[in-house]
Amino acid sequence: MTAFSLGPLLYEGKAKRVFATATPELLAVEFKDDATAFNAEKKASLAGKGACNCRISALIFTWLQARGVPTHYLGVSGERWMLVRSVQVVPIEVVVRNLAAGSLCRQLPIALGTRLDPPLIDLYYKDDAYGDPLLNEARLEWLALLSAEQRGQVAELALAVNRGLRELFDAVDLELVDFKIELGFAADGQLLLADEISPDTCRLWDRRVGDCDARILDKDRFRQDLGGVVEAYGEVLKRVQGVCPEAQVYG
Ligand code: UDP
Repeated sequence: MTAFSLGPLLYEGKAKRVFATATPELLAVEFKDDATAFNAEKKASLAGKGACNCRISALIFTWLQARGVPTHYLGVSGERWMLVRSVQVVPIEVVVRNLAAGSLCRQLPIALGTRLDPPLIDLYYKDDAYGDPLLNEARLEWLALLSAEQRGQVAELALAVNRGLRELFDAVDLELVDFKIELGFAADGQLLLADEISPDTCRLWDRRVGDCDARILDKDRFRQDLGGVVEAYGEVLKRVQGVCPEAQVYG
């Protein structure tokens, strides 16, 4: 914690704390060990998770930036701090699905693992008080969160992230089932990828393993009480480190 001076806590989420810094457009994000699922009904502290997710996110943001995806990421500091550009967060969770899993299989007659080609993009209104409901075009228009042009930009960015992530995970024998991203507008109006990308926010199946439970290397291990959560995240980090350049230290 040397290249920036920490300001007040601005926001505490389930897995991260966001702090102001002495520079207005710079925020410091601390990755916590806390794990939650089912709208925070299930909670635990998993030692090492924060550091793992910070490092994985940093490597992924760098990978995506090198492939033309604009992100809020600026660098890491220590094991669990990430420096990011301040953005106006769009209160929408964008989920991209390559294979059917999770809520899609609970809500529709689509079997687990069904290939979705082209990938399915689902938008959810990000508000725990309402249970993060699925949005449709009419609801999106009613909420007036995005213009028609911005809606197009969101879909384009989500698909660019999907292409970049699939290239990365394909290279290390991980199947990218689905993932969630959050987006924000920078002061100059540019739409940026924000938040984090980690096994907390992606479903990743190990292609080297056949067993349906053993192949899971993401938060489903926590959701389904499969154990070995941090070990699985560590395996993802190890593989990603094998093909990504070192994370840039901020400052
Ligand atoms: N996801 C997330 N945060 C959320 C909801 C979903 O990071 O608040 C991720 C989840 O880990 C998965 C993808 O988005 O990789 C799709 O999740 P889904 O809609 O299937 O919901 P779930 O099964 O997690 O309830």
